[in-house]
Amino acid sequence: MKVSNGFAGAVGNTPLIRLDGLSRETGCEILGKAEFMNPGGSVKDRAALYIVKDAEERGILGPGGTVVEGTAGNTGIGLAHICNARGYRCVIVIPETQTREKIDLLRTLGAEVHTVPAVPYSDPGNYQKVAGRMAEEQDNAIWANQFDNTANRRGHYETTAAEIWDQTNGGIDAFVAATGTGGTLAGVSRYLKAQNDAVRVVLADPSGSALCHYVEQGSPEPAGAGSITEGIGSSRVTENLAGTAIDWAYTIEDTETVPMVYRMLREEGLFLGSSSGVNLVGAVRVARELGPGHTIVTVLCDGGGRYYSRLYNRDWLAEKGLSPDG
Ligand code: PMP
Repeated sequence: MKVSNGFAGAVGNTPLIRLDGLSRETGCEILGKAEFMNPGGSVKDRAALYIVKDAEERGILGPGGTVVEGTAGNTGIGLAHICNARGYRCVIVIPETQTREKIDLLRTLGAEVHTVPAVPYSDPGNYQKVAGRMAEEQDNAIWANQFDNTANRRGHYETTAAEIWDQTNGGIDAFVAATGTGGTLAGVSRYLKAQNDAVRVVLADPSGSALCHYVEQGSPEPAGAGSITEGIGSSRVTENLAGTAIDWAYTIEDTETVPMVYRMLREEGLFLGSSSGVNLVGAVRVARELGPGHTIVTVLCDGGGRYYSRLYNRDWLAEKGLSPDG
């Protein structure tokens, strides 16, 4: 029998999908790792699972314990599922700017959700810092700390990257992705470069993020006017991202991202979130940079169902000066 052991056993081993139109257009193989097919619906199931397993193994999370996290949504959703499956309480602190869909889903899954104003990382009221304090105030509680807890990166090193290497028979030329915590990009970069140092690793950074400048100049500096994307972009270099080899970076504008996700829906039947759009725009740029004949892998991080009210709402897009048609 081929059976997965519970929720945790169903995380990972996602398909690598060839995107026909983008591949034809560029003469490259453009491949998307279908992370929206994880049981909690996003790439963050992997990080959530590794963080919980790591805390259990280190003996800091015991039966009936609590997992607290500051999250833009997907990590919280992954954690809420895993906490249910393992008998933990889940407490989530989320910026109130995140979509209603994600906040409602977290509550439906049984997490205790605290919404807080979206303020910069330097502010003590920042959602990540509030989560850290909440965990400290409770017994038998851990702060998942996805940004600086490198169990997150290890999850991608041991699973996402190893799967990509296997699925491409080691024939990958470049990996491109946006980062939130940096776990995906850093874990995958470290693994792939350990197999073959010639594999290029490229950051696709949404407008407003400081990481493109970090890759190019060595220090984080915001570039661009900002972005409607969620869960990606950063003002700082996290522990997960620090010390990772990244060959080059692009700033990606929403005017490219939005038409890309609508194109994927029309052309490939793939209903994706905005970060997948950033990743695919990045993948096409890498393909143009390298020229035909290369294999480029990126991540389809989550599905469009988490973004009905924004990315898939034409009125909301129009208010932002954006259109599905570019
Ligand atoms: N896309 C989405 C939709 C996300 O929620 C996240 C994580 N916040 C990412 C991409 C980025 O992943 P990572 O945290 O591994 O950098």
